Amino acid sequence: MAIRKIVIHPAEILEKTCKEIVNFDKKLARILDDMYDTMIEYDGVGLAAPQIGIDGRMAIVDIDDDHGTIEMINPRIIETSGEQTDPEGCLSFPGLYGEVTRPNFVKIDAFDRKGRKYTLEAEGFLARAIQHEIDHLDGILFTTKVSRYLEDDELKGVESE
Ligand SMILES: [Zn+2]
Repeated sequence: MAIRKIVIHPAEILEKTCKEIVNFDKKLARILDDMYDTMIEYDGVGLAAPQIGIDGRMAIVDIDDDHGTIEMINPRIIETSGEQTDPEGCLSFPGLYGEVTRPNFVKIDAFDRKGRKYTLEAEGFLARAIQHEIDHLDGILFTTKVSRYLEDDELKGVESE
């Protein structure tokens, strides 16, 4: 396992639609392990493959709750509802935080590293983190959704994804 370099905006890889994952092999598992190490090293709550320069539809989320680390490969949003507006940050935009409105509830399906399909329902902050990461796989950055950027004195406790 290893800590990878985080791609900082602007970079082409951050703004493209990533490719579907087809091989659920050891190489994939290694990338996911590296993504975890990198996310922890940079104190994030989520990380998408393009953020370490990899063109592949996979992302991880870990908000330190009882879900543990959620690995999403080829994830799809099936259902959303409600609305939440809260501060959001991104490891590819160090020091930048803004308020983003997203659905409060999300239902997704995705594959795990062994190629097993699963569905997951989430709400609140976990739903936010999941949607932020899936956006990355479509080249959509949180800055396109920010309604208001936050000042330094408003940043306490805001984590990056
Ligand atoms: Zn991000």
